[in-house]
Amino acid sequence: MTKKKANYGNSQTNERKTIKKLKRGFAYKLFYQLGVWTQNASLNDYYLAVSYTVRDRMQQLFINTIRAFQQKDSKIVSYLSAEFLMGPHLHNNLINLGIYDQVAQAAAESGLDLQQIIDHEEEPGLGNGGLGRLAACYLDSLASLEIPAIGYGIRYEFGMFDQAFDNGWQKELSDRWLQPGNPWEFKKADMAVEVGSGGYTEQYKDDHGKLRVRWVPGKLVKGIPYDTPILGYRVNTVNMLRLWSAEAPKSFDFAEFNVGDYLGAVHEKMLAETISKVLYPNDEQSHGKALRLYQQYFFVSCSMQDMIRIHLFQFENLDNFSDKFAVQLNDTHPAIAVPEFMRLLVDVHHYDWDSAWEIVTHTFAYTNHTLLPEALEKWPVAMLAGLLPRHLEIIYEINRRFLDLVRLEYPGDVDVVRRMSIIDETGERYVRMANLACVGGHAINGVAQLHTKLLKEHTLVDFHRLWPDKLINITNGVTPRRWMVVSNPRLSQLIRSAIGEEWITDLKKLQALEPLAEDSAFCEKWQQIKFANKQDICTMFACKQGPNYNPQALFDVQVKRIHEYKRQHLNLLHIVTLYQRLKNNPELDIPPRLFIFGGKAAPSYFMAKLIIKLINSVAEVVNGDPAVNKRLQILFIPNYNVQIGHIVYPMADLSEQISLAGKEASGTGNMKFAMNGALTVGTLDGANVEIREEVGAENFFLFGMNVGEVEARRAAGYNPQDIYNENKELHAAINLIATGHFSHGDRELFRPVIDSLLKHDPFMVLADYQAYVDCQQQVGEVFQDPQRWTRMAILNAARIGKFSSDRSITEYCRKIWQVKPFPVALTLQRVPDGGIKFPKRKEIVRT
Ligand SMILES: *Cc1c(COP(=O)(O)O)cnc(C)c1O
Repeated sequence: MTKKKANYGNSQTNERKTIKKLKRGFAYKLFYQLGVWTQNASLNDYYLAVSYTVRDRMQQLFINTIRAFQQKDSKIVSYLSAEFLMGPHLHNNLINLGIYDQVAQAAAESGLDLQQIIDHEEEPGLGNGGLGRLAACYLDSLASLEIPAIGYGIRYEFGMFDQAFDNGWQKELSDRWLQPGNPWEFKKADMAVEVGSGGYTEQYKDDHGKLRVRWVPGKLVKGIPYDTPILGYRVNTVNMLRLWSAEAPKSFDFAEFNVGDYLGAVHEKMLAETISKVLYPNDEQSHGKALRLYQQYFFVSCSMQDMIRIHLFQFENLDNFSDKFAVQLNDTHPAIAVPEFMRLLVDVHHYDWDSAWEIVTHTFAYTNHTLLPEALEKWPVAMLAGLLPRHLEIIYEINRRFLDLVRLEYPGDVDVVRRMSIIDETGERYVRMANLACVGGHAINGVAQLHTKLLKEHTLVDFHRLWPDKLINITNGVTPRRWMVVSNPRLSQLIRSAIGEEWITDLKKLQALEPLAEDSAFCEKWQQIKFANKQDICTMFACKQGPNYNPQALFDVQVKRIHEYKRQHLNLLHIVTLYQRLKNNPELDIPPRLFIFGGKAAPSYFMAKLIIKLINSVAEVVNGDPAVNKRLQILFIPNYNVQIGHIVYPMADLSEQISLAGKEASGTGNMKFAMNGALTVGTLDGANVEIREEVGAENFFLFGMNVGEVEARRAAGYNPQDIYNENKELHAAINLIATGHFSHGDRELFRPVIDSLLKHDPFMVLADYQAYVDCQQQVGEVFQDPQRWTRMAILNAARIGKFSSDRSITEYCRKIWQVKPFPVALTLQRVPDGGIKFPKRKEIVRT
């Protein structure tokens, strides 16, 4: 039986049958898999029962896809990333499978509320922010575009910490995402691989008398794969996210056990399992942490061994590996893959160096995510020598050959050799991971036009000069499935009824909305939806100090990691300015605003945590002041994550994208907001530049210095103190904070923020302050003209098509990976009546 597409209920009777089967599925899972009866089942049991039922409906496609990849000559994209910020699975899987309505109906007929069950899911927070979320959006697009792909990463037992507030301060709580059980993953215990560490290297003669090197690790750990199916949107392709968990190779060291050192033996096991224990909650470098380096090596080694295994299942040798796999390095975190693959090819599979290097460099490509030279990852040579001695030797050999090439190209230029070397020799010696990734792959890409331009001119200028074709741009994108269909059902329904649903897989089709910006009936519906979305959040979060939040207010939103370069404190200075204006002039004609913040600070980032405390402190005073709190309120939503994102992007009127120009590589939050009809107030930074180009300058609130002006300002000797002295409103706003108005008279509490702003102001908050406040004035005026605002919002959504991750992935496929869609025919039967004839053991192959 061959069907092109999985088909669930295309007629009335089929529909009834499907619902009946689903209901039976819930009951069956509850009883047999969870071992509970309806009377003693918890909400979690119901969540699991529904999820397992849905998962069963993905299995046929999943197994079918894997079989197709094994048998056919398809090229597979391997996306290597230390982070995957997937967000909750259930709702997304229902949408991509196309069975949301049936499951909702079956749930209702079973006495369950599907929304409540969806909300119960604890999201796997296996990422910090933008970088991990990008990896997740890319997996969605890869599957939806029917590109064979595997996401490789780490199955952290504890993901990103949960954020709570304690007297306004961030408190970090451990994330126990696996505690309630994870119905979406499959443990493949018998597909473990071994990974070494420490030890030494030695030379030996092989059977043919050839001198070879081998690594004799001091320790081994086992990597166990856990596979999560990644559904494409309404296609047969189900890709795979394969996350590695570390285990001790044996649970007891019997030698130690026999001499009575039971604790020592258990200790070894514990140490091994520490490797995949916790995600480093830092969106930049976790400097000098050996465990972090080993996490990277661990997942990379597991993944390379896995790919080699898959390849050798199909081919005799690894000669054509780069025809079968395109491996993308998401930032430098997996860059150790370059020497690891060299080691596997040369030491284990006995390739000569040059042939191995040919395979390696045709396999890898590297995505750069940062401009700040100080944020580029580097590891002490001494640390590598201890942990990965063979890799260090290989890195030195790669570097020796590379620098020969550089010297040949630029004779006598010792400076360029020093700058491009993979080894930083300026003080304590380091391995520069970005240089390693640039040398070890065939393509390097930046993530927005401006970012790529700056890479070419500054961060990677030498590499660009040496290899002018290697560095390219692929602007980031986000998936409209999760960020519109799943998170904003009201708006998606309106758009569907207006222009059909092709936009879901071809976002440029939203252009058809443009004429509707002039249609008053459509505009009114648009406004009603935004209002309903805003009401949702008002009911969800009650104001603690003042009156309830007002859904009529302008919802002015900044959600993202808390970082000085993202300038949450610039937003705050505007709030304090409005507060003062209202206090001085109660008659002031400005629209009511609700300022919404969300975001976590790295636990060790003192200034970011102080900014959180400052926002919460200002919120307490402002919300509690009856003289202003009808027109000014602040809500800091704790624990910003994908789930909160689902709520926040659809209800925003205004999207704050106010980083200092030249600091944000791309941003993706900016895209999610605009897709959902928020207007942007932003600088010419990252993808803001391209968003503004697409939606039209007249539909974007631009302010502040551009990159050139930032450079010129700094070159001229930037002194924030001068601005403070000259700008009365700014002066007053800063003084209000400094004199303890928001800290019960405590003048010390926020001094570090004030000092930083007045003394160095590294992110030029004061320089952009007046332009920002003026621009916000304009925002307020336009908001008071709802027709105009709505028209602009519709045009933003209508013109945002470029920022679908489908477009990004299509570019990766064409410019870097050389892969094409590989539609999977549904050939596999589910469970044949009369059962299965099992193959003989020796006929069984595993991938
Ligand atoms: C999109 C997203 C981000 C990235 O936001 P930026 O505004 O681009 O920094 C971070 N965290 C979550 C949960 C997201 O969904």
